[in-house]
Amino acid sequence: MSTGSGSHPPTDGGVTLEFHGAAQGVTGSMHILHLPGGPVALDCGMFQGRREEARQLNESFPKSCHALKSVLLSHAHIDHSGRIPGLVRKGFRGPIHATDATTDLCDVMLADAAHIQEEDARFWNEKRARTPKEQIRPLYTLDDARAARRLFRSADYNTPVEFADGATVTYYEAGHILGSACMLVQLTRPRPVRLLYTGDLGRFDIPILRDPTCPLPAADYLITESTYAGRRHDDPTDMRRRLVAIIKDAVAAGGKVIIPSFSVGRTQHLLYELANAFADKSLEPLPIYVDSPLSVNATDVFKHHPECYDEQASSFWRHEGDLFGHCCIRYITSVDESKSLNSLGEPCVIIAASGMCENGRILHHLKNNIEDPRNAVVIVGYMAQHTLGRRIVERRDELTIFGRLYRLLCRVEILNGFSAHADSRDFTRLLAPLASGLKAAFCVHGENAQLEAMRQILLSAGCPAVHIPAPGEVFPLE
Ligand SMILES: [Zn+2]
Repeated sequence: MSTGSGSHPPTDGGVTLEFHGAAQGVTGSMHILHLPGGPVALDCGMFQGRREEARQLNESFPKSCHALKSVLLSHAHIDHSGRIPGLVRKGFRGPIHATDATTDLCDVMLADAAHIQEEDARFWNEKRARTPKEQIRPLYTLDDARAARRLFRSADYNTPVEFADGATVTYYEAGHILGSACMLVQLTRPRPVRLLYTGDLGRFDIPILRDPTCPLPAADYLITESTYAGRRHDDPTDMRRRLVAIIKDAVAAGGKVIIPSFSVGRTQHLLYELANAFADKSLEPLPIYVDSPLSVNATDVFKHHPECYDEQASSFWRHEGDLFGHCCIRYITSVDESKSLNSLGEPCVIIAASGMCENGRILHHLKNNIEDPRNAVVIVGYMAQHTLGRRIVERRDELTIFGRLYRLLCRVEILNGFSAHADSRDFTRLLAPLASGLKAAFCVHGENAQLEAMRQILLSAGCPAVHIPAPGEVFPLE
């Protein structure tokens, strides 16, 4: 196999794969499969990180997107789905194929993303009103998100869906968030090709969700995420005990526990663990505030898809009822209610969006609480480079929030066992059995050391060629 020359996919009727987002990076997942009938996108995710840089990346789509026929979506996380309304704004009207639960989650997530874009533009334009700088427009609006919603086509797991002439996609459980899937693309024309794209690969034994499909189907080519390919996570089954211990310590000190959390997935896992801790009496009742309108809506989607639950969650659902409805849990939707949390004097847990602390209500809770040593910030998710979340993980002495410096004096606890991303053991278990049957693999969605670790896992399992594609790089699939 030869590496393509860059930004010009061959147009000789062959099949090629072009890499964009999450190529030698972590956010903005998007890979373009060029078929004789036109290009198809695997995911269409948003870039996150440095504000200006991310904004530019999110505004510009690869040239080939003008002719895009359809989008195959692995899961609803915004770094995989978040640019879909932007694509629609630029004229895309093709179908977006996704599982049923992903479709429902995107319904609430893309509307929320549009709201954030509109608010963000308003905030910066107000700031800029005092300067001669040009006004900025939101990346997309709620109308664009609604238009995108109408293009979704729901699919069942394990059932091939034809998305182009001679081309099907089949969704396999990825065990990452509700509705997440590894996608097997099978082409019969112009020649038989099987391409497996992991999306984000989940883990075994994480709360609520079924385990990833194991073994995954055989393929000729593999695109795999690599987020934690070189790391070992803590045991997910120990997370409840550790979370309860942190909360008890904070309660004893009279402090609060602030948890920045992705509204979709991680928040529901946390609520389920807390509901279990209340049920088995390992934790005394205390107020749990879920401060995110998106979490409220996403939790409703979780309630409507019990078919995606694992054995234990199904059993809890049958015996205890609603997984997320404990009387201590209070869902906050209005801005006034959110502000009222600032003046709370008693110990409590506040779970707030957004995941990487880049925007959303978490910023207010951080600025109000990180200078009090009685409090704890609990990091339960991945924090990309150049995000406020990463600076908290690094325990910087001072943090800038809303343009002001704050001292980081509270405790910072890292619970990486809540991660819903595969670690080195999971990757080896799930992908090593496929490796020797592949013609080539492509490692994406990882920082350099993790991409290299993924390459080593696949090479040592017998994969004949492993690439770490650069943005814009094109490869023929033969
Ligand atoms: Zn994800």
